[in-house]
Amino acid sequence: MKKSMWFYIEPYVHVQIQKDNIILYNTLNGAVIENSSHPGILELVKSLLDNRAVIELTSHHLQDPQIKDFVNEVKSKFMGDLLDSQWIKGKPFQVGNELKLFREVRGGRKSGNSLLSSDVMSHLTEISFYLNNYPLRNEAIFQNGCKQFLFSKHDGVGEENLNSELIKNVVLEAEGSSLFRLNILGGNLLYYPELEKLEDFFDSIPLIKSYYLHYIDILEHQKGFEEFRSRWCARRSIDSTYELNLLIHFPFDRFEVFERVKHLVKEGIPVKGIFIVQSSRELSNLEELMNKSGLEEFAVFPYFNGHNLEFFMESVFITKEEILEARPQRQDIFARTVLNQLHFGKINVLSNGDYYAGYIENKLGEVGSDSIYEIVMNEFIQGNCWRKTRENLSPCKDCLYQYLCPSPSLFESALGRNNLCHIQS
Ligand code: SF4
Repeated sequence: MKKSMWFYIEPYVHVQIQKDNIILYNTLNGAVIENSSHPGILELVKSLLDNRAVIELTSHHLQDPQIKDFVNEVKSKFMGDLLDSQWIKGKPFQVGNELKLFREVRGGRKSGNSLLSSDVMSHLTEISFYLNNYPLRNEAIFQNGCKQFLFSKHDGVGEENLNSELIKNVVLEAEGSSLFRLNILGGNLLYYPELEKLEDFFDSIPLIKSYYLHYIDILEHQKGFEEFRSRWCARRSIDSTYELNLLIHFPFDRFEVFERVKHLVKEGIPVKGIFIVQSSRELSNLEELMNKSGLEEFAVFPYFNGHNLEFFMESVFITKEEILEARPQRQDIFARTVLNQLHFGKINVLSNGDYYAGYIENKLGEVGSDSIYEIVMNEFIQGNCWRKTRENLSPCKDCLYQYLCPSPSLFESALGRNNLCHIQS
């Protein structure tokens, strides 16, 4: 046995210690080592974290069978290796493994005047405009859909319309940012009086315009939908940046909606069916409905209605195996240490002009009074949505998987708990 060896962990390996538990996760091949029993290994891993992932192992260490097994497992899973110290002058240097963007984001909160602040607009990627809050006739359900995912906001009593000039100003102010998508939602946007005018402006900007229509919106305002459809079919020949999302939920028997939408599909306009489910029974009936729709693109969202926790526990809550099967990449893990991957870069503008990030978090300002730059800067420096990680939430803050697990979503807020998993109760 040689006198000492350098033991190092590769920069692509995520290492986490929580209390006496350790996890090493290889972001390249998905291999995992979990250990919770041996104090010598715990000390060794702590020492690796304190010493830029390179430590010296003496013959004393390497004679400990458990440490030897651990080192061999690290080697066999391509997470690290031993280097003979007699051939290396001084401690080998391990490059830092935090990507620049995330270092900047971490620093951004501390200093509003940092270099990053001047470039803060580069973090803006998506704005959702709720054009009105027109109520759904005959449908009292899904009032909270918009607090869980992108869904029409049907909580109005009349027609509260967001002025199209204000929308235009917001988008123009965002020039030079990383904005690439506008989500356009109602109420019922078919009742929005300036829809055509807005589309004339949208034609001139090379961003994705993603519209959301509830199937009942179409049935309630069939004439409005026919006009909308013929404009889109004509527009398609000059612009391919428009897409339509059709919001559908059970009970559903209005198949004529699919007939109406079919013309758009025929013209090559992407129409995605967004299916909202509340129970295992609805989930099992989905395939039939998808087939009948004639659509090719789908997304499925669970909806928490206050009474279906069991469904969420069965179909939505994740297991340890699912977290690992998702194979989070190195940049995902870095991102989750400092920002919320689901909300970061996204701003919502409600029909009354209020700015929000993540919809239900604190109001950030008002369209017309506050510039989009001020809104982005406020959220970036002081907001609690773009930076909502699992680090400070119970029970996630004590969990080994806190950075392997997806960022907290709106579902956690809707269910009133921080973890949608079977790992911690
Ligand atoms: S406790 Fe939190 S971090 Fe841990 S697995 Fe569950 S949701 Fe993820």
